[in-house]
Amino acid sequence: MAAPTRYDVDRGALAELLDGQPRYRVDQVWSGLHEHLAEPADMTNVPLALRRRLAEVLPDALALTTEAVADGGDTVKWLWTLGDGAQVETVLMHYPQRSTVCVSSQAGCAMACGFCATGQAGFTRHLTSGEIVEQVVRASRRARADGRRLANVVFMGMGEPLANFDATWAAVRRIHDDLGLGARHLTISTVGIVPGIRRLAAADLPVNLAVSLHAADDALRDELVPINRRYPLAVLAEACAEHVERTGRRLSFEWALIDGVNDRPQDAARLAAYARDLRAHVNLIPLNPTPGYPTRGTPPEGVERFRQELAGRGANVTVRDTRGTSIDAACGQLAAAAVPTPRRRPRPADEGRGG
Ligand code: SAH
Repeated sequence: MAAPTRYDVDRGALAELLDGQPRYRVDQVWSGLHEHLAEPADMTNVPLALRRRLAEVLPDALALTTEAVADGGDTVKWLWTLGDGAQVETVLMHYPQRSTVCVSSQAGCAMACGFCATGQAGFTRHLTSGEIVEQVVRASRRARADGRRLANVVFMGMGEPLANFDATWAAVRRIHDDLGLGARHLTISTVGIVPGIRRLAAADLPVNLAVSLHAADDALRDELVPINRRYPLAVLAEACAEHVERTGRRLSFEWALIDGVNDRPQDAARLAAYARDLRAHVNLIPLNPTPGYPTRGTPPEGVERFRQELAGRGANVTVRDTRGTSIDAACGQLAAAAVPTPRRRPRPADEGRGG
């Protein structure tokens, strides 16, 4: 296993690394990393020799490869290269009152949703919790530099967070406990991995759950979101109900409107019924264009008609603001494969196993 990166170490591991330093030094470094979001070199309250040692033993997880800015500076996308050459993207969005960061949980994704650029590129590897947390730290620093405040974290970047549950959960804890973001400001988005939803429901921190639904009948969803074959809609609904019941958090459904595919009146009727039963909020977004998927997003008048059909049937619905389309930073467009990504070399134990 690769050496831990800066935010992969917990307080105990940090104390061990700083063996021989008094406890208050460990505390200073810990709060330097999490409260002040400081680089070791900038921790001017600790001795220079220690700053140097920290920079050495706690390397950054993310090396900046490219930055792209859109929407008049309100959307920033970063492409990072990780220690082993894998690449992931992070998107920061400024809104008038707050900023939101969209983080990746895996390099690539194994869920194979055909309309999603990350899905088209395939799976490279899971991220570690430190690689996830550091995306939040970088975004938070940038928000601060822009005179903003990072208030929300959404696990809606590359990858399926519930297929990388342990690292995702460790990151959630760190973001909550040490970076100080409230559980109601953290949202995990999933294709609908039912055991993961059940683990979330039982966890000790009630975070928001978003499910990428896109179809409310099994035949269509089997096609759009292949994991539906394993966890069909009825089973998914039970897990969602359990999450709502145990956490008290509002559930939301993501629905990328695809022209002529899932924007028909019968789709609205099925979705409205499914969402109403769970008192879920529906977020509509016209499908963003990706290279590997031929069908276009529903045009604006169709989006409005679909919204009205849902609202008329008593569903809670909003049309999501599209951000970052011009820099391929919009939903479903994240694909580090625009730059060739070194694939993980298979180890003997991996042979013959599907992604
Ligand atoms: N794997 C998780 C996290 C990724 S979130 C999940 O599926 O929820 C990315 C969101 O963008 C998901 O709701 C996904 O379905 C949606 N999405 C994917 N491709 C898209 C596209 N081309 N246009 C609009 N939304 C898309």
